[in-house]
Amino acid sequence: MVMKLVLLGPPGAGKGTQAQEISRRLNIPHISTGDMFRAAVAAGTPLGLQAKAFMDAGKLVPDEVTIGIVRERLQAEDCAPGFLLDGFPRTLPQAQALDGILAERGIELDAVLDLEVPREELLKRLTGRRVCKSCGATFHLLFNPPRDRDRCDHCGGKLIQRDDDREETVSRRLDVYEEQTAPLVEYYRRQGKLKTINGNQDIPRVLEAIGEALGENWR
Ligand code: ADP
Ligand code: ADP
Ligand code: ZN
Repeated sequence: MVMKLVLLGPPGAGKGTQAQEISRRLNIPHISTGDMFRAAVAAGTPLGLQAKAFMDAGKLVPDEVTIGIVRERLQAEDCAPGFLLDGFPRTLPQAQALDGILAERGIELDAVLDLEVPREELLKRLTGRRVCKSCGATFHLLFNPPRDRDRCDHCGGKLIQRDDDREETVSRRLDVYEEQTAPLVEYYRRQGKLKTINGNQDIPRVLEAIGEALGENWR
């Protein structure tokens, strides 16, 4: 069965890292609102100009804007069978809007995977994160090191630190998560969709735990 999934969890929990693999295995598109905003910033579009100030400050982009881009993306044909949302929803209004968008089409989410990782570990993960400027692949200087410190293993692109991964912004983003996103755990628990995943283990083990949570749908 093709699946409609959400990856929930604080910044640095490993959503993007796991999403790449889940998307490949289940053959569903990986939809990251963070990646969409970063692409818009890089391209200098009006959306990017609007999003940049919020991102740099470690704050959330306003709901109307974010819901708009997701609504549009979910209309694309490749999302008809299933999709994996990474970093959306992040607020209660976003979660309610998503339920509405899906209900209009007579569908609903199959599962919400919540990656749990303690704050001290998140701080280490975020400050050591490096991303490829060309293909977006994610590495970690200590936990998932690239073969060459400044070059991407996959495409040879330049590895950079995201502006919002600097220490000053990271702790702000973790606070924003606690205030605005953590309540979604209860929201999805009440819907019976929540699957809690121990994200505080190595990358292959987390993937295994996700596979177990998805049961017969995993392959
Ligand atoms: P991380 O992977 O570290 O959790 P993301 O790449 O998902 O971060 O997001 C980076 C930034 O993009 C966020 O700090 C926020 O400013 C913006 N953003 C991404 N997704 C959303 C969303 N669903 N709602 C509001 N802002 C978002
Ligand atoms: P998110 O998308 O939730 O913000 P990422 O997938 O970008 O998180 O991971 C954050 C950082 O932690 C990256 O540098 C990544 O290489 C690293 N990382 C991801 N999963 C693990 C793990 N299970 N153990 C150690 N480091 C990890
Ligand atoms: Zn690359």
